[in-house]
Amino acid sequence: MAISNINREKCVQCGMCENFCPMDVIRVDSNKRPEIKYVEDCMLCCLCEVRCPVKAITVSPTKGSKKNLKKTEKRNQGTSL
Ligand code: SF4
Ligand code: SF4
Repeated sequence: MAISNINREKCVQCGMCENFCPMDVIRVDSNKRPEIKYVEDCMLCCLCEVRCPVKAITVSPTKGSKKNLKKTEKRNQGTSL
């Protein structure tokens, strides 16, 4: 289980997810768009999901890995990182 998706259509680029993530899994790029950078470090605290004001973040029930992240990206085509 780990963060698996950030819905960019919902995201309002507030930066809260980056601020609250204790493991620096999420980084905001130069355009203030959040990216899942280090999914393996996710400790499942769900702070990002809870703090996101527009519910754009999903913490997945599958084990966190780049492989699973890619699967989620494919499934959500165009709405994930
Ligand atoms: S669940 Fe916690 S550790 Fe994982 S990305 Fe979200 S805030 Fe970071
Ligand atoms: S907390 Fe939600 S709305 Fe804010 S930058 Fe992160 S994903 Fe986007």
